[in-house]
Amino acid sequence: MGVRPRVVIIGSGFGGLNAARALKSAPVDVTVVDRDNYVGFWPLLYQVATAGLGADDIAYPVRATYAGHPNIRVRLATATGVDLDARLVHLDGHDSLPYDFLIVSAGSSTTDFGLPGVSEHTFALKTLPDAVRLRNHILTMFEHADAGSGERGALIIVLVGGGPTGVELAGALSELISRNLSRDFTHLDVTRARVVVVEKADRLLPGFSDRSAATALAALVRKGVEVRFGVRLAGVDARGLTFEDGSSLDASTIIWTAGVAASPLAGGLAAERGRGGAVVVRADLSVAGHPEVFVVGDLAAASGRDGRPLPQLAPVAIQGGRHAARTIRRQLSGRPSRPFRYHNHGIMATIGRREAVAELPGGLHLAGTLGWVAWLVVHLFFLVGFRNRIVAFVNWAWNYLTWDRASRVILDDGRRITDRWAP
Ligand SMILES: Cc1cc2nc3c(=O)[nH]c(=O)nc-3n(C[C@H](O)[C@H](O)[C@H](O)COP(=O)(O)OP(=O)(O)OC[C@H]3O[C@@H](n4cnc5c(N)ncnc54)[C@H](O)[C@@H]3O)c2cc1C
Repeated sequence: MGVRPRVVIIGSGFGGLNAARALKSAPVDVTVVDRDNYVGFWPLLYQVATAGLGADDIAYPVRATYAGHPNIRVRLATATGVDLDARLVHLDGHDSLPYDFLIVSAGSSTTDFGLPGVSEHTFALKTLPDAVRLRNHILTMFEHADAGSGERGALIIVLVGGGPTGVELAGALSELISRNLSRDFTHLDVTRARVVVVEKADRLLPGFSDRSAATALAALVRKGVEVRFGVRLAGVDARGLTFEDGSSLDASTIIWTAGVAASPLAGGLAAERGRGGAVVVRADLSVAGHPEVFVVGDLAAASGRDGRPLPQLAPVAIQGGRHAARTIRRQLSGRPSRPFRYHNHGIMATIGRREAVAELPGGLHLAGTLGWVAWLVVHLFFLVGFRNRIVAFVNWAWNYLTWDRASRVILDDGRRITDRWAP
């Protein structure tokens, strides 16, 4: 080791950000590597995709996060691999970074499970550009329909997957269409628009109780969302979806919320891989045979006290990042590491205005307005940046008073998923 131990953190999302913050006064030099120059708040991505918030309302500059902490440097770069024996992080287009301790919190991406056409013809919702692209596309489809495209399916939006992202998006889309686009497009029969959720299981919201799943379903149905259970997708093409039972559905917008895969970095970190290719970690979140390397957040296949896999949720990443930082401090002062204990503070999902489900510790269930208020408070609290909190609060208050989802702006980068639906 040099004079001060070098800690490299890959990813400045929920896990990496909290690890770095927990090391800000430690006797170490920290380098945070991220491919983006912002910290994104993914739980609100669906609001960007549905014009409720602007893209930079849910993003905060990485460098501003660490300003005033001289032991933390930021490197805007993509990590391409890790050499565990040489203790090097390889970067795309830059020299490799040496480390004494490494925390990897590179998150997850989507997988298409090998289904034909999914990567070419569906929209993902994992990044800010994904959300902006989806918003552009939906607004553009309405413009095309208004310009005379009478195609079946032109205003049909299908969400594949009835998890929290599918449910939240479906609720927000139905509000966007019924409250905003119906007024914007006075000469278009907007009642032609349909929002359809297709789910292979027989209920929504895996990970939530049956009660919350039923509440969410009832709320979606009230909003006019069609929910189809037990539906297995066979493939997607430029026209729409085909299902294993041989039926098909024409749709101009197909949103893929179903598959989660570990970051490709997982391959170089451990031989043992868990769900979705995540890295199987030891009890203290380190990698087998490398007590100086920690994997946290979505990329880690860690278990809770009951031995069940921990979910891919922001609080798991936040607590994991802090735990890895604490373990580094313990190792530096010659103390043994401790196992990671996840404290579950509850889960929640919103289905729209004054509609949310929340499951809190102690078996407490909240739904409707109460659940929605709890959701608002928690999301404002965790949103990074004072300005972002104010802007989100003002937007939500405005939306509450007027139903206006104000960011109905097409910021087209010229890339089209398909021109099939153009008039
Ligand atoms: C649409 C959506 C909605 C969600 N809603 C909720 C919710 O309501 N509640 C909840 O608890 N959780 C929610 N989650 C899950 C939650 O966001 C994740 O569990 C959490 O972000 C995991 O944290 P992480 O640090 O592992 O990864 P992330 O927060 O994704 O951070 C990963 C970081 O690594 C960077 N990165 C990735 N690869 C590289 C590389 N090769 N080189 C350099 N940098 C790299 C990325 O740019 C990113 O900044 C949601 C996720 C999504 C996508």
